[in-house]
Amino acid sequence: MPHTAVSDHRLGLLQRLASGPVVCAEGYLFELERRGYLQAGAFVPEVVMEHPDKVVQLHREFVHAGSDVVEAFTYYAHREKLRVIGKEDLLEPMNRQALALASQVAADSGALLAGNVCNTNIYDHDDAQARRQIGAMFAEQIGWAAEGRVDFVIGETFWFAEEALMALEAIQRAALPSVITLAAHRSGVTREGWTYAEACRRLVDAGADVVGLNCTRGPATMLPLLDDIVAAVGDTPVAALPVPYRTTPAEPTFQSLRDPHYDGLPGGVPFPTALDPFVCNRYEIADFTIAAREAGVRYFGLCCGAAPHHVRSMAEALGMAPPASRYSSDMSKHAFLGSDTALAPQEAGIGSKL
Ligand SMILES: [Zn+2]
Repeated sequence: MPHTAVSDHRLGLLQRLASGPVVCAEGYLFELERRGYLQAGAFVPEVVMEHPDKVVQLHREFVHAGSDVVEAFTYYAHREKLRVIGKEDLLEPMNRQALALASQVAADSGALLAGNVCNTNIYDHDDAQARRQIGAMFAEQIGWAAEGRVDFVIGETFWFAEEALMALEAIQRAALPSVITLAAHRSGVTREGWTYAEACRRLVDAGADVVGLNCTRGPATMLPLLDDIVAAVGDTPVAALPVPYRTTPAEPTFQSLRDPHYDGLPGGVPFPTALDPFVCNRYEIADFTIAAREAGVRYFGLCCGAAPHHVRSMAEALGMAPPASRYSSDMSKHAFLGSDTALAPQEAGIGSKL
């Protein structure tokens, strides 16, 4: 087994996975967009420069809710995205700042610190120049992550498994543990046409430490893919980080959801700024977590759309009691819906009339 930059007061990712499940909250883009600090569209995390306190706050909320990992918010903080918005000069400061903010919260809380690289959106198997560009993008971001003393690096949301393999290679070159997750789009296969089980097996063969799926699919449409992945990868821990939206077999991804109750959507579809009516409740997240654990998943999380109450529900379903569990609901003393004998008789029983 390779690597791990384990500091004396914490256990590295692989040791933690050997002793039980790990939770990693993701979904920073969507949550900071909802809070009014990040623009939908380009979805570049400029918030790490403009409102660093808001990023730190969300890191803390996710840890409070049960995340074992603080993931540096460098999703889409890569050279291609910054080129698109004309701010390539911000690339390095943005990455270093995101790592520093996450590091601060990880150090305070004892959570693991993860670096992050992601889909570049320019992958083309037949374009050697694009591949070279991608290799350089991964190398520079992972280099900054290594200098930021991350415990491991997450490579995520890849449509092309070959691009994921490139990310893995770059992470291995930095001698860091890797979590590599693919985004399962509508077709049910990667852009190369590999099944997700096949893609994950190839990633494991290439040395990935954790493999699986993130983003795009909600719990109901990610779950059916997990059995085959678990079966394909032997002892390697499998990751599942769905988006917390009610996707269906007919509309298996959050991009494909349609809202029959509202026809005024700019762009015609709920994705990405009008997905509110489809948000899973916390109990659905718990159900998914239990089912995924039974399927053999060991690395859990939620992606775009996740809020702290979802993360807490996931952690609790895994038997954890994060600090936020102090405030988990107890309706027994609710004025109208409760059953506690201390409730005045005029209060009890009103629930059925509400
Ligand atoms: Zn996502």
